[in-house]
Amino acid sequence: MSDANEGGARTLGGGAHSSDSFRRKAEGLGPSVYVDLDRTLFQTSRTEEIWQAVEQLYPAIDANEQSARATEFHTDTPYGYCYDFFAQLKSLGIDGNEARRRLLTLPLADGRLQFDGEAELVAWLNERADVTILSFGKRDYQSFKQALCPALDGIPLETVMGSKGEWLADKGECWLIDDKPQTDLPPNVRFIQVSLEGKEVVSQPWLVLTSLADVKEYLSHNIDKS
Ligand SMILES: [Mg+2]
Repeated sequence: MSDANEGGARTLGGGAHSSDSFRRKAEGLGPSVYVDLDRTLFQTSRTEEIWQAVEQLYPAIDANEQSARATEFHTDTPYGYCYDFFAQLKSLGIDGNEARRRLLTLPLADGRLQFDGEAELVAWLNERADVTILSFGKRDYQSFKQALCPALDGIPLETVMGSKGEWLADKGECWLIDDKPQTDLPPNVRFIQVSLEGKEVVSQPWLVLTSLADVKEYLSHNIDKS
């Protein structure tokens, strides 16, 4: 797996991480909260804006054309598709590390791809929980999307290519916040589904919330009891 583009998103110090939250994490205090990235913390439906930014930096690139051929770089798995953005850049002769670095200097990285209420939720969680991004997909691309979201600066990122339920099974009592229905979660996981893109909410046997402000509100009443 190419990890060459990972890095910036893990910058520590300052930002959302107070020394208190480091201490809490080091001592294993506070509940563990795992939060999905795509469509939960990152507006994946706006991915074409990444290609528009690539076009801005590399004028020979046609953003619409590249958005349209992105599926050529999808790999289907039983858990969803995996997109290799950096392989697509490479196919265009673009160095991924350089592109990443340059893209992160653009307005694209100013938080516009976050959801409403995200900065507040993440900062609040970071003060009272051991919060981790748990994302399905290739690590270099997921790390890049995290880095596009200033609210997620310094939050640990875990990437999986299989079942989140299996991955969480040995993590003890924890929470998972994810836009995808999760039907195989072990009993140690408390699940909140989010639906943040205005789609009709399907009734589920678990809690479904339609804003990150609502997630914060719900957790404020329930997280300390977990
Ligand atoms: Mg998702």
